[in-house]
Amino acid sequence: MNLRIGLPGGARCAVVVTYDTDMAGGYSPDGVCHGRTAPFLMDYINRLCETAEDYGVRLQFFQIANGLELDGVVSHLKDVIRRGHAVDCHTYNHINLAYSSPRDLDEDLNLANRLFEERLGYRSVILRGPGGYRHNELKAENQRVILKNGYMWVSGEFDYDLLKRRDYTYMISAPSRNLPFRYSTGLIEIPIQGWTDRTWFDSHRLIDPEAYACWRKKCGHRPVPKGWRCPWTDTAALDDWIKMNLECLDYAYEHGLVWVLCWHPYSHYLHDPENRMLPSLLEAASKKAEKVLIWTMRDLIQHVEK
Ligand SMILES: [Zn+2]
Repeated sequence: MNLRIGLPGGARCAVVVTYDTDMAGGYSPDGVCHGRTAPFLMDYINRLCETAEDYGVRLQFFQIANGLELDGVVSHLKDVIRRGHAVDCHTYNHINLAYSSPRDLDEDLNLANRLFEERLGYRSVILRGPGGYRHNELKAENQRVILKNGYMWVSGEFDYDLLKRRDYTYMISAPSRNLPFRYSTGLIEIPIQGWTDRTWFDSHRLIDPEAYACWRKKCGHRPVPKGWRCPWTDTAALDDWIKMNLECLDYAYEHGLVWVLCWHPYSHYLHDPENRMLPSLLEAASKKAEKVLIWTMRDLIQHVEK
């Protein structure tokens, strides 16, 4: 059952800006994705926060809870929270919500919840699913484990047809598809709409897989030098990424939609080192004739109509 989302104060549309803060396995020599945020990534996250604050809006972050075992990560996140941004859970060990056994999932979420409570002082209310899954792949058994661990809201469904279809109209109309809905167990899914930065830059616009594999092995999870340019995507990938996202915004605006996007600070650190994407989006949103809301996921769930 699809859910209706109310737009307060006569707003025309809303954009839910979410970032998964992963030290992504796809950028690591050993392929392990974890939440022990490196200092270079904290710097980039702080830059994103500053950009948002310049526009008077807040960002939604999803944190892999195993990072909360490090004091440095906890103080970084506390600072992000103090500045008004939202931090919710991306599991303890980056396990897939749909493809894990109920038992593994239960153990993982238990641990994640404990760390959120002990280290940040609150329970996360929304769970971002790592790795993505297709519509209806999250089986009822796993939904019940998620509910049992205190989550009413989950965001992990991804549209894999984007990778196959590749037509532009389909890409920019993403805000009209994969709408929030309620599973039969009562759990509410808020799907990711459209390309993630990871799939855009590292799959869709990948031109040199060998360069990518080589960089991963030799340089992954270490800061890149100033002026470094990613050798595995084509040179127009960033300009096209910005253009495509701005057209998604236009589409959401034109049709009065709520658009949930999912990005990663690490992907933007590599592919958008000057931080052009977020300011471009917020600038375009602020210039629209009618009000465009920039929401966290927590804002969104408050506006789901009962
Ligand atoms: Zn992730």
